[in-house]
Amino acid sequence: SSLFSSVEMAPRDPILGLNEQFAADTNPDKVNLGVGVYFDENGKLPLLACVQAAEKALMDAHKPRGYLPIDGIAAYDNGVKALVFGTDSDVIKQGRVATVQALGGTGGLKIGADFLKKLNPNAKVLISDPSWENHRALFTQAGFEVGTYRYYDAATRSLNFDGMLADLKAAAPGTVVVLHACCHNPTGYDITPAQWAQVIDAVKAGKLTAFLDMAYQGFAEGIAEDGAVVGEFVAAGLAVFVSTSFSKSFSLYGERVGALSVVCSSKEEADKVLSQLKIMIRTNYSNPPTHGGAVVAMVLGDPKLRAQWEEELAGMRTRIKAMRRALAEGLKAAGVKQDMGFITTQVGMFSYSGLSKDQMVRLRNEFGVYGTDTGRMCVAALNEKNVGYVCASIAKVI
Ligand code: PLP
Repeated sequence: SSLFSSVEMAPRDPILGLNEQFAADTNPDKVNLGVGVYFDENGKLPLLACVQAAEKALMDAHKPRGYLPIDGIAAYDNGVKALVFGTDSDVIKQGRVATVQALGGTGGLKIGADFLKKLNPNAKVLISDPSWENHRALFTQAGFEVGTYRYYDAATRSLNFDGMLADLKAAAPGTVVVLHACCHNPTGYDITPAQWAQVIDAVKAGKLTAFLDMAYQGFAEGIAEDGAVVGEFVAAGLAVFVSTSFSKSFSLYGERVGALSVVCSSKEEADKVLSQLKIMIRTNYSNPPTHGGAVVAMVLGDPKLRAQWEEELAGMRTRIKAMRRALAEGLKAAGVKQDMGFITTQVGMFSYSGLSKDQMVRLRNEFGVYGTDTGRMCVAALNEKNVGYVCASIAKVI
Protein backbone atom coordinates (compact mmCIF):
# COMPACT_ATOMS: atom_id res chain seq x y z
CA SER A 1 0.00 0.00 0.00
CA SER A 2 1.16 3.53 -0.69
CA LEU A 3 1.32 6.50 1.63
CA PHE A 4 -1.95 7.71 0.14
CA SER A 5 -3.89 4.46 -0.15
CA SER A 6 -6.22 5.45 2.69
CA VAL A 7 -7.01 8.87 1.18
CA GLU A 8 -10.64 9.19 0.19
CA MET A 9 -12.03 11.29 -2.64
CA ALA A 10 -13.49 14.49 -1.15
CA PRO A 11 -16.92 15.58 -2.38
CA ARG A 12 -16.93 18.18 -5.13
CA ASP A 13 -17.49 21.79 -4.08
CA PRO A 14 -21.24 22.16 -4.67
CA ILE A 15 -21.02 25.54 -6.40
CA LEU A 16 -17.82 25.07 -8.35
CA GLY A 17 -19.15 21.65 -9.41
CA LEU A 18 -22.20 23.44 -10.80
CA ASN A 19 -19.87 25.69 -12.83
CA GLU A 20 -18.25 22.66 -14.44
CA GLN A 21 -21.65 21.26 -15.33
CA PHE A 22 -22.67 24.63 -16.77
CA ALA A 23 -19.52 24.87 -18.89
CA ALA A 24 -20.26 21.45 -20.39
CA ASP A 25 -23.93 22.27 -21.13
CA THR A 26 -24.58 22.72 -24.87
CA ASN A 27 -27.95 24.50 -24.44
CA PRO A 28 -27.50 27.86 -26.25
CA ASP A 29 -29.94 29.56 -23.85
CA LYS A 30 -28.16 28.41 -20.69
CA VAL A 31 -27.92 30.88 -17.78
CA ASN A 32 -25.59 30.50 -14.81
CA LEU A 33 -27.26 31.77 -11.65
CA GLY A 34 -25.23 29.42 -9.47
CA VAL A 35 -22.01 31.15 -8.55
CA GLY A 36 -22.02 34.44 -6.58
CA VAL A 37 -20.55 36.71 -9.20
CA TYR A 38 -21.82 40.03 -10.55
CA PHE A 39 -22.15 40.21 -14.33
CA ASP A 40 -22.97 43.41 -16.21
CA GLU A 41 -25.92 44.00 -18.55
CA ASN A 42 -24.03 42.17 -21.33
CA GLY A 43 -23.43 39.14 -19.15
CA LYS A 44 -19.75 40.03 -18.77
CA LEU A 45 -17.62 40.16 -15.66
CA PRO A 46 -16.86 43.89 -15.34
CA LEU A 47 -13.39 45.38 -15.00
CA LEU A 48 -14.20 48.62 -13.20
CA ALA A 49 -12.95 51.87 -14.78
CA CYS A 50 -11.48 52.96 -11.42
CA VAL A 51 -9.51 49.71 -11.29
CA GLN A 52 -8.26 50.18 -14.86
CA ALA A 53 -7.12 53.72 -14.05
CA ALA A 54 -5.32 52.59 -10.90
CA GLU A 55 -3.70 49.69 -12.75
CA LYS A 56 -2.47 52.03 -15.46
CA ALA A 57 -0.95 54.40 -12.89
CA LEU A 58 0.70 51.47 -11.08
CA MET A 59 2.03 50.08 -14.33
CA ASP A 60 3.50 53.46 -15.31
CA ALA A 61 5.20 53.77 -11.93
CA HIS A 62 7.13 50.51 -12.55
CA LYS A 63 7.59 49.86 -8.86
CA PRO A 64 9.79 46.96 -7.79
CA ARG A 65 7.91 44.04 -6.24
CA GLY A 66 9.45 43.48 -2.81
CA TYR A 67 7.76 41.68 0.05
CA LEU A 68 4.90 43.55 1.63
CA PRO A 69 4.78 43.91 5.41
CA ILE A 70 3.13 40.88 7.05
CA ASP A 71 -0.05 42.87 7.71
CA GLY A 72 -0.09 44.28 4.18
CA ILE A 73 0.04 47.75 2.65
CA ALA A 74 -0.43 50.41 5.35
CA ALA A 75 -2.50 52.66 3.06
CA TYR A 76 -4.71 49.67 2.27
CA ASP A 77 -5.28 48.80 5.93
CA ASN A 78 -6.07 52.45 6.67
CA GLY A 79 -8.47 52.57 3.72
CA VAL A 80 -10.26 49.47 5.03
CA LYS A 81 -10.53 50.99 8.51
CA ALA A 82 -12.08 54.18 7.16
CA LEU A 83 -14.52 52.23 5.03
CA VAL A 84 -15.60 49.82 7.75
CA PHE A 85 -15.65 52.13 10.77
CA GLY A 86 -16.14 55.54 9.16
CA THR A 87 -13.47 58.15 8.45
CA ASP A 88 -13.95 60.06 11.69
CA SER A 89 -14.70 57.18 13.99
CA ASP A 90 -13.38 57.32 17.52
CA VAL A 91 -12.11 53.73 17.52
CA ILE A 92 -9.72 54.56 14.71
CA LYS A 93 -8.57 57.83 16.27
CA GLN A 94 -7.96 55.95 19.52
CA GLY A 95 -5.95 53.27 17.68
CA ARG A 96 -8.25 50.51 18.95
CA VAL A 97 -8.58 48.60 15.69
CA ALA A 98 -6.11 46.00 14.44
CA THR A 99 -6.50 45.58 10.67
CA VAL A 100 -4.59 43.24 8.39
CA GLN A 101 -4.76 42.78 4.63
CA ALA A 102 -6.02 39.28 3.89
CA LEU A 103 -6.54 36.91 0.97
CA GLY A 104 -10.12 37.87 0.23
CA GLY A 105 -12.93 37.75 2.74
CA THR A 106 -12.20 34.04 3.15
CA GLY A 107 -8.65 34.88 4.22
CA GLY A 108 -9.94 37.41 6.75
CA LEU A 109 -12.29 34.82 8.20
CA LYS A 110 -9.54 32.19 8.42
CA ILE A 111 -6.98 34.47 10.09
CA GLY A 112 -9.69 35.49 12.56
CA ALA A 113 -10.73 31.89 13.15
CA ASP A 114 -7.15 30.76 13.80
CA PHE A 115 -6.58 33.63 16.22
CA LEU A 116 -9.86 32.92 18.04
CA LYS A 117 -8.97 29.24 18.36
CA LYS A 118 -5.74 30.15 20.11
CA LEU A 119 -7.50 32.72 22.29
CA ASN A 120 -10.39 30.55 23.38
CA PRO A 121 -9.85 26.93 22.30
CA ASN A 122 -13.05 25.61 23.88
CA ALA A 123 -15.41 28.13 22.32
CA LYS A 124 -18.12 26.97 19.96
CA VAL A 125 -19.04 28.74 16.75
CA LEU A 126 -22.58 29.50 15.63
CA ILE A 127 -23.44 30.28 12.02
CA SER A 128 -26.83 31.11 10.55
CA ASP A 129 -29.09 28.34 9.25
CA PRO A 130 -28.56 28.47 6.33
CA SER A 131 -25.27 30.26 5.71
CA TRP A 132 -22.55 30.65 3.10
CA GLU A 133 -21.35 27.09 2.50
CA ASN A 134 -17.77 27.82 3.48
CA HIS A 135 -18.52 29.20 6.98
CA ARG A 136 -19.07 25.77 8.49
CA ALA A 137 -16.14 24.18 6.68
CA LEU A 138 -13.75 27.02 7.48
CA PHE A 139 -14.47 27.18 11.21
CA THR A 140 -14.50 23.37 11.44
CA GLN A 141 -11.11 23.26 9.73
CA ALA A 142 -9.86 25.82 12.27
CA GLY A 143 -10.76 23.28 14.98
CA PHE A 144 -14.12 24.58 16.18
CA GLU A 145 -17.35 22.75 16.82
CA VAL A 146 -19.83 24.57 14.59
CA GLY A 147 -23.54 24.82 15.32
CA THR A 148 -26.30 26.98 13.88
CA TYR A 149 -28.74 29.63 15.00
CA ARG A 150 -32.15 29.75 13.36
CA TYR A 151 -32.44 32.35 10.63
CA TYR A 152 -34.66 31.42 7.69
CA ASP A 153 -37.98 29.65 7.88
CA ALA A 154 -38.65 27.79 4.65
CA ALA A 155 -42.32 27.19 5.48
CA THR A 156 -43.17 30.89 5.73
CA ARG A 157 -40.43 32.00 3.34
CA SER A 158 -39.29 34.60 5.82
CA LEU A 159 -36.88 35.25 8.63
CA ASN A 160 -37.32 33.50 11.94
CA PHE A 161 -35.99 36.34 14.05
CA ASP A 162 -37.53 35.08 17.30
CA GLY A 163 -35.74 31.78 16.74
CA MET A 164 -32.48 33.57 15.99
CA LEU A 165 -32.67 35.65 19.15
CA ALA A 166 -33.63 32.67 21.31
CA ASP A 167 -30.66 30.68 19.98
CA LEU A 168 -28.24 33.56 20.63
CA LYS A 169 -29.62 33.98 24.16
CA ALA A 170 -29.11 30.27 24.81
CA ALA A 171 -25.47 30.29 23.65
CA ALA A 172 -22.71 29.75 26.21
CA PRO A 173 -20.44 32.71 27.08
CA GLY A 174 -17.49 32.93 24.70
CA THR A 175 -19.44 31.48 21.78
CA VAL A 176 -18.34 32.98 18.47
CA VAL A 177 -21.37 34.16 16.49
CA VAL A 178 -20.82 34.62 12.78
CA LEU A 179 -23.19 37.29 11.45
CA HIS A 180 -23.69 38.50 7.90
CA ALA A 181 -23.27 42.28 8.15
CA CYS A 182 -25.45 42.84 5.07
CA CYS A 183 -26.79 41.01 2.02
CA HIS A 184 -27.20 37.64 3.72
CA ASN A 185 -25.85 34.77 1.62
CA PRO A 186 -27.74 32.64 0.59
CA THR A 187 -31.17 34.00 1.52
CA GLY A 188 -31.00 37.71 0.62
CA TYR A 189 -32.90 38.51 3.84
CA ASP A 190 -31.30 40.98 6.26
CA ILE A 191 -32.56 41.82 9.73
CA THR A 192 -33.74 45.37 10.46
CA PRO A 193 -31.78 47.97 12.50
CA ALA A 194 -34.19 47.41 15.41
CA GLN A 195 -33.52 43.66 15.24
CA TRP A 196 -29.78 44.29 15.09
CA ALA A 197 -30.11 46.26 18.33
CA GLN A 198 -31.65 43.18 19.95
CA VAL A 199 -28.88 40.97 18.56
CA ILE A 200 -26.27 43.36 19.96
CA ASP A 201 -27.97 43.27 23.37
CA ALA A 202 -27.95 39.46 23.28
CA VAL A 203 -24.27 39.35 22.27
CA LYS A 204 -23.39 41.74 25.07
CA ALA A 205 -25.53 40.13 27.78
CA GLY A 206 -24.40 36.63 26.81
CA LYS A 207 -20.70 37.60 26.57
CA LEU A 208 -20.60 36.23 23.02
CA THR A 209 -17.99 37.19 20.43
CA ALA A 210 -19.43 38.70 17.26
CA PHE A 211 -17.69 37.99 13.96
CA LEU A 212 -19.22 40.13 11.23
CA ASP A 213 -18.71 38.87 7.72
CA MET A 214 -18.95 41.83 5.35
CA ALA A 215 -18.57 40.45 1.85
CA TYR A 216 -21.07 42.80 0.19
CA GLN A 217 -20.59 46.28 1.65
CA GLY A 218 -22.28 48.70 -0.74
CA PHE A 219 -24.60 46.18 -2.37
CA ALA A 220 -27.67 46.70 -0.15
CA GLU A 221 -28.20 50.44 0.40
CA GLY A 222 -24.76 52.05 0.21
CA ILE A 223 -21.27 51.91 1.67
CA ALA A 224 -22.00 53.89 4.84
CA GLU A 225 -25.50 52.46 5.25
CA ASP A 226 -24.33 48.87 4.97
CA GLY A 227 -21.40 49.49 7.30
CA ALA A 228 -23.52 51.19 9.97
CA VAL A 229 -24.12 47.92 11.80
CA VAL A 230 -20.40 47.72 12.62
CA GLY A 231 -20.67 51.12 14.32
CA GLU A 232 -23.55 49.83 16.42
CA PHE A 233 -21.45 46.95 17.78
CA VAL A 234 -18.62 49.38 18.51
CA ALA A 235 -20.98 51.84 20.22
CA ALA A 236 -22.15 49.01 22.47
CA GLY A 237 -18.56 48.65 23.66
CA LEU A 238 -18.08 45.21 22.15
CA ALA A 239 -14.89 43.59 20.91
CA VAL A 240 -15.86 42.65 17.39
CA PHE A 241 -14.24 40.90 14.46
CA VAL A 242 -14.98 42.13 10.92
CA SER A 243 -13.92 40.39 7.73
CA THR A 244 -13.99 42.50 4.59
CA SER A 245 -14.08 41.33 1.00
CA PHE A 246 -13.51 43.49 -2.07
CA SER A 247 -14.05 40.58 -4.45
CA LYS A 248 -17.53 41.79 -5.39
CA SER A 249 -17.39 45.51 -4.68
CA PHE A 250 -14.26 45.97 -6.83
CA SER A 251 -14.94 43.04 -9.13
CA LEU A 252 -11.48 41.76 -8.23
CA TYR A 253 -12.40 38.16 -7.41
CA GLY A 254 -9.15 36.56 -8.50
CA GLU A 255 -6.86 39.12 -6.89
CA ARG A 256 -7.88 37.96 -3.40
CA VAL A 257 -8.34 41.33 -1.74
CA GLY A 258 -9.87 41.35 1.71
CA ALA A 259 -9.09 42.20 5.31
CA LEU A 260 -9.65 41.34 8.94
CA SER A 261 -10.30 44.06 11.52
CA VAL A 262 -10.46 43.41 15.25
CA VAL A 263 -11.85 46.07 17.57
CA CYS A 264 -10.12 46.11 20.94
CA SER A 265 -10.66 48.09 24.14
CA SER A 266 -7.38 50.06 23.99
CA LYS A 267 -4.51 50.86 21.65
CA GLU A 268 -2.23 48.72 23.78
CA GLU A 269 -4.54 45.75 23.33
CA ALA A 270 -4.88 46.38 19.59
CA ASP A 271 -1.08 46.41 19.21
CA LYS A 272 -0.86 43.04 20.95
CA VAL A 273 -3.70 41.58 18.89
CA LEU A 274 -2.05 42.82 15.70
CA SER A 275 1.19 41.11 16.70
CA GLN A 276 -0.70 37.82 17.09
CA LEU A 277 -2.57 38.20 13.79
CA LYS A 278 0.80 38.70 12.13
CA ILE A 279 1.97 35.35 13.49
CA MET A 280 -1.09 33.68 11.95
CA ILE A 281 -0.23 35.25 8.61
CA ARG A 282 3.53 34.70 8.81
CA THR A 283 3.13 31.00 9.51
CA ASN A 284 0.52 30.46 6.79
CA TYR A 285 1.65 32.45 3.76
CA SER A 286 4.15 34.97 5.14
CA ASN A 287 2.64 38.13 3.62
CA PRO A 288 -0.08 39.10 1.18
CA PRO A 289 0.29 39.68 -2.57
CA THR A 290 0.93 43.17 -3.93
CA HIS A 291 -1.26 43.89 -6.92
CA GLY A 292 -4.87 43.77 -5.72
CA GLY A 293 -4.06 45.55 -2.47
CA ALA A 294 -2.16 48.30 -4.30
CA VAL A 295 -5.09 48.84 -6.69
CA VAL A 296 -7.67 49.05 -3.90
CA ALA A 297 -5.45 51.27 -1.74
CA MET A 298 -4.99 53.68 -4.64
CA VAL A 299 -8.70 53.83 -5.45
CA LEU A 300 -9.73 54.30 -1.82
CA GLY A 301 -7.10 56.98 -1.24
CA ASP A 302 -7.51 59.07 -4.39
CA PRO A 303 -10.59 61.35 -4.24
CA LYS A 304 -11.27 61.14 -7.98
CA LEU A 305 -10.89 57.37 -8.25
CA ARG A 306 -12.80 56.95 -5.04
CA ALA A 307 -15.75 58.92 -6.43
CA GLN A 308 -15.60 56.86 -9.59
CA TRP A 309 -15.63 53.63 -7.59
CA GLU A 310 -18.62 54.74 -5.53
CA GLU A 311 -20.46 55.54 -8.75
CA GLU A 312 -19.61 52.18 -10.31
CA LEU A 313 -20.59 50.34 -7.14
CA ALA A 314 -23.89 52.25 -7.08
CA GLY A 315 -24.37 51.20 -10.69
CA MET A 316 -24.03 47.52 -9.75
CA ARG A 317 -26.40 47.97 -6.81
CA THR A 318 -29.00 49.75 -8.94
CA ARG A 319 -28.80 47.19 -11.73
CA ILE A 320 -29.32 44.31 -9.30
CA LYS A 321 -32.42 46.04 -7.91
CA ALA A 322 -33.78 46.56 -11.42
CA MET A 323 -33.22 42.86 -12.15
CA ARG A 324 -35.06 41.88 -8.97
CA ARG A 325 -38.06 43.90 -10.16
CA ALA A 326 -37.79 42.43 -13.65
CA LEU A 327 -37.68 38.91 -12.20
CA ALA A 328 -40.69 39.44 -9.92
CA GLU A 329 -42.74 41.13 -12.65
CA GLY A 330 -41.63 38.66 -15.29
CA LEU A 331 -42.72 35.69 -13.19
CA LYS A 332 -46.13 37.26 -12.74
CA ALA A 333 -46.39 37.92 -16.47
CA ALA A 334 -45.33 34.33 -17.16
CA GLY A 335 -48.35 33.15 -15.20
CA VAL A 336 -46.84 32.34 -11.80
CA LYS A 337 -49.76 32.67 -9.40
CA GLN A 338 -47.97 32.64 -6.06
CA ASP A 339 -46.72 35.97 -4.73
CA MET A 340 -43.04 36.34 -5.62
CA GLY A 341 -42.84 39.90 -4.27
CA PHE A 342 -40.28 38.76 -1.70
CA ILE A 343 -37.70 38.84 -4.48
CA THR A 344 -37.71 42.63 -4.40
CA THR A 345 -37.51 42.91 -0.62
CA GLN A 346 -34.46 40.68 -0.49
CA VAL A 347 -31.09 42.46 -0.92
CA GLY A 348 -27.66 41.72 -2.32
CA MET A 349 -26.62 39.31 -5.01
CA PHE A 350 -28.85 36.40 -4.07
CA SER A 351 -32.47 35.41 -3.94
CA TYR A 352 -33.77 32.42 -2.09
CA SER A 353 -36.48 31.54 -4.57
CA GLY A 354 -38.35 29.06 -2.42
CA LEU A 355 -38.04 26.48 -5.22
CA SER A 356 -37.48 22.87 -4.20
CA LYS A 357 -34.46 20.75 -5.07
CA ASP A 358 -36.56 18.87 -7.66
CA GLN A 359 -37.59 22.13 -9.30
CA MET A 360 -33.99 23.38 -9.33
CA VAL A 361 -32.81 20.12 -10.91
CA ARG A 362 -35.53 20.41 -13.59
CA LEU A 363 -34.53 24.04 -14.26
CA ARG A 364 -30.98 22.86 -14.84
CA ASN A 365 -31.64 19.71 -16.85
CA GLU A 366 -34.58 20.86 -18.98
CA PHE A 367 -33.87 24.57 -19.36
CA GLY A 368 -30.17 25.11 -18.69
CA VAL A 369 -30.97 27.54 -15.86
CA TYR A 370 -28.44 26.86 -13.10
CA GLY A 371 -29.07 27.71 -9.43
CA THR A 372 -28.11 25.77 -6.32
CA ASP A 373 -30.21 22.84 -5.07
CA THR A 374 -31.26 24.99 -2.11
CA GLY A 375 -33.16 27.30 -4.48
CA ARG A 376 -30.59 30.09 -4.36
CA MET A 377 -30.28 32.15 -7.52
CA CYS A 378 -27.74 34.88 -8.21
CA VAL A 379 -29.85 37.81 -9.40
CA ALA A 380 -26.64 39.70 -10.21
CA ALA A 381 -26.21 37.36 -13.20
CA LEU A 382 -29.57 38.34 -14.73
CA ASN A 383 -29.81 40.86 -17.55
CA GLU A 384 -32.41 42.25 -19.95
CA LYS A 385 -31.61 39.50 -22.44
CA ASN A 386 -31.85 36.44 -20.18
CA VAL A 387 -34.43 37.43 -17.57
CA GLY A 388 -37.41 36.64 -19.81
CA TYR A 389 -36.13 33.14 -20.52
CA VAL A 390 -35.39 32.57 -16.83
CA CYS A 391 -38.94 33.66 -15.89
CA ALA A 392 -40.52 31.44 -18.54
CA SER A 393 -38.41 28.48 -17.37
CA ILE A 394 -39.26 28.99 -13.70
CA ALA A 395 -42.96 29.31 -14.59
CA LYS A 396 -42.79 25.88 -16.24
CA VAL A 397 -41.38 24.12 -13.18
CA ILE A 398 -43.53 25.83 -10.54
N1 PLP B 1 -18.44 35.56 3.00
C1 PLP B 1 -19.56 35.48 2.28
C2 PLP B 1 -20.87 35.57 2.98
C3 PLP B 1 -19.50 35.32 0.90
O1 PLP B 1 -20.63 35.22 0.21
C4 PLP B 1 -18.24 35.25 0.27
C5 PLP B 1 -18.11 35.05 -1.18
O2 PLP B 1 -18.90 34.45 -1.84
C6 PLP B 1 -17.11 35.33 1.06
C7 PLP B 1 -17.24 35.49 2.42
C8 PLP B 1 -15.74 35.18 0.49
O3 PLP B 1 -15.27 36.24 -0.22
P1 PLP B 1 -13.86 36.16 -0.97
O4 PLP B 1 -14.14 35.63 -2.31
O5 PLP B 1 -13.40 37.56 -0.96
O6 PLP B 1 -12.98 35.26 -0.19
